Amino acid sequence: METLYVKVPGTVDTSYPIEIGAGLLGSVWAGLDERFAGRGRFVVTDANVAAAGLLDELLAGTEVPCYTIEPPGEVSKNVDTAVGIVEAMEKACLGRDTLVVALGGGTVGDIAGFAAAIFKRGVPVVQVPTTTLAQADSAIGGKTGVDSSVSKNAFGAFWHPAVVYIDVATLKTLDERQYRAGLVESVKHAVIADAEYFDFLERRLDDILGRKLEVLEAIAGYNCRIKGSVVEADPHERNKRRILNYGHTIGHAVESASSYDLLHGEAVAVGMAAAGLIEAEMGLAEPARLQRVQGVLERLGVPVRLPDSIAQEKVLDLLQHDKKAVGKWPRFVLTDRLGHAYCENGQYAVDVHREIVEKVLKKLR
Ligand code: NAD
Repeated sequence: METLYVKVPGTVDTSYPIEIGAGLLGSVWAGLDERFAGRGRFVVTDANVAAAGLLDELLAGTEVPCYTIEPPGEVSKNVDTAVGIVEAMEKACLGRDTLVVALGGGTVGDIAGFAAAIFKRGVPVVQVPTTTLAQADSAIGGKTGVDSSVSKNAFGAFWHPAVVYIDVATLKTLDERQYRAGLVESVKHAVIADAEYFDFLERRLDDILGRKLEVLEAIAGYNCRIKGSVVEADPHERNKRRILNYGHTIGHAVESASSYDLLHGEAVAVGMAAAGLIEAEMGLAEPARLQRVQGVLERLGVPVRLPDSIAQEKVLDLLQHDKKAVGKWPRFVLTDRLGHAYCENGQYAVDVHREIVEKVLKKLR
């Protein structure tokens, strides 16, 4: 018997630039001409983004094959849509030298990124996020995927973008509820990683809600620096990257228990309020810090209590089936001061007794 080894070089450079500005959508094409001269292009967007005029602004009169996801949103984040995109690219006779440009929110970015990852074994994707959630979170970090009929993001790939263009002016047309819910990920970044950013959010919240472009550019910068540095430290979520799941363990359970009536950011806000109460139970947080975080979430107009329609038992049951659960109970990400994730024995996801979570869920009413 003989054992042979194939040594595949493991390090591929996946660093990429993020351009941030107000009104840069119209110059994305010129930017791509400079960076990726001679490559074919294929745009993926959705019907709402196109109706808001953002597709026309991006294309600026150029003829480029497009796939418009219809209906927009999570209902279309499935394998059928990914197959539809791949086949549309084949029909447009595109090859391995194609750039996929994802123009839209997190659903468009996740689906288009996944389609790019599987088209002819992988072509680059350019992310052009247009929601508060996508600009703060999903467009950066390389997670792509679609849902199965059983669970979210069941099919997926780490597929880092070749470049990200964040045009904060695109947020002007976003629906108010989506706009506010997506901002919860910005609050999360501040709470886990940057107390000065939290001060900024607290001070400038009225301008943020008024969609003042220069403040939106500033928060995009904070978000990308925080998420970028966490992803650089732990691209495949072995440990440190888990801090980005702050508020998400209970948040995902609440989102699912609401049958997705709550938007992702709204459920994460409930999850962050729960994390704060867990921290207080464990002696990690003083009341003043909890009040400040809760105060910002309340000013955003997102829920910080468990809605009456959601049974506590349902949330507990879903927590037991959390995909990251170890031995039927998940670990939790906590903070021990504002802007600082709690680390226990070198681990950022820590054990919290079920009794504490039960108590906290009661307090969340
Ligand atoms: P979304 O993409 O569904 O967008 C929300 C709604 O706003 C949609 O109806 C969309 O058509 C519309 N829209 C988008 N931009 C608009 C604009 N500028 N003007 C007018 N309408 C606009 O939702 P989302 O909140 O951006 O993303 C949610 C998705 O992101 C979920 O599928 C979630 O799993 C995923 N996600 C991924 C990551 C990641 O790391 N990949 C992280 C967090 C969330």
